[in-house]
Amino acid sequence: MSILSDAHFHNEEAAYAWVETQVWPEGPVCPHCGERHRIGKLKGKSTRIGVRKCYACRKPFTVKVGTIFEDSHIPMRIWLQAVYLLSASKKGFSSNQLHRTLKVSLKSAWFLSHRIREAMRAGSLSPPLGGSGSSGVVEADETFIGRKKGVPKPKGGTAHKHAVLSLVERGGGVRSVHIGNTRADTILPIVNENIAKEAKVFTDDAATYYNKLDGFAGHESVSHSSGEYVRGEVHTNTVENYFSIFKRGMKGVYQHCGEKHLHRYLAEYDFRYNNRVGLGVDDSARAVKAVKGVVGKRLTYRTTNRKVNDADDANKANGEGS
Ligand SMILES: [Zn+2]
Repeated sequence: MSILSDAHFHNEEAAYAWVETQVWPEGPVCPHCGERHRIGKLKGKSTRIGVRKCYACRKPFTVKVGTIFEDSHIPMRIWLQAVYLLSASKKGFSSNQLHRTLKVSLKSAWFLSHRIREAMRAGSLSPPLGGSGSSGVVEADETFIGRKKGVPKPKGGTAHKHAVLSLVERGGGVRSVHIGNTRADTILPIVNENIAKEAKVFTDDAATYYNKLDGFAGHESVSHSSGEYVRGEVHTNTVENYFSIFKRGMKGVYQHCGEKHLHRYLAEYDFRYNNRVGLGVDDSARAVKAVKGVVGKRLTYRTTNRKVNDADDANKANGEGS
């Protein structure tokens, strides 16, 4: 029996029950009033799967309320297949491939994958990288990807590309941000906010503004411009390895991505890296983590992206590859 033979990938009731276990580990919670005890399960032939009734506020609900699954007509078992595929594929899984594999429309495939990326997005309350209990070393670097709309390619430089800043804790997690430019006043606040003060920060010398870093346990850089890549423990190979997974995936699987969606693709790659096998998280456990992240993401999705624009992008498949 393969993993994909599990009942929650095929049976709608099993799919709901599985999601309920992840989202409500201590039993159902009314999304309308927070009630945990006086809740009943509605049964009967005409009742939709997973419907509960709260006897405190008298309202019905399912586990979908307030999650990325809300307002979707796609069966839960198909959602779970999509979550698994996106969680397990190291370089990503394109909307086109999802469309063919799950036999949903291309537009649905696109909605599914962007909502799942939203579920994968880390909360803003995550502790800073490199703090106590970690390796205490964080590498910081920027990379450039894609093509800005309407910006001609300069003779040299990267002004026509989108910039990404990634911070990688050695032996730990990554945090990536799509940044509008690579000026010190853009980068330093992100570094200060996301790296613990007890950490040592390693960078390359391209970013001389990192010399303005202070308050950390240390800051060292290797001089890539003069051919120096490793000096003892000082190097940025970990963050560069991360960039290579991200870039190979974006190039091979997604090909192009609109600027306004870049942060979600970054969330997807960060999520898989933060929950990788090397940290003891296998494909199934990673999919469970993604499903645990579905709660509270729906509103963010709505406010950051007007539905009209999304539908437009979906029709064009947003330039994703096959
Ligand atoms: Zn209630």
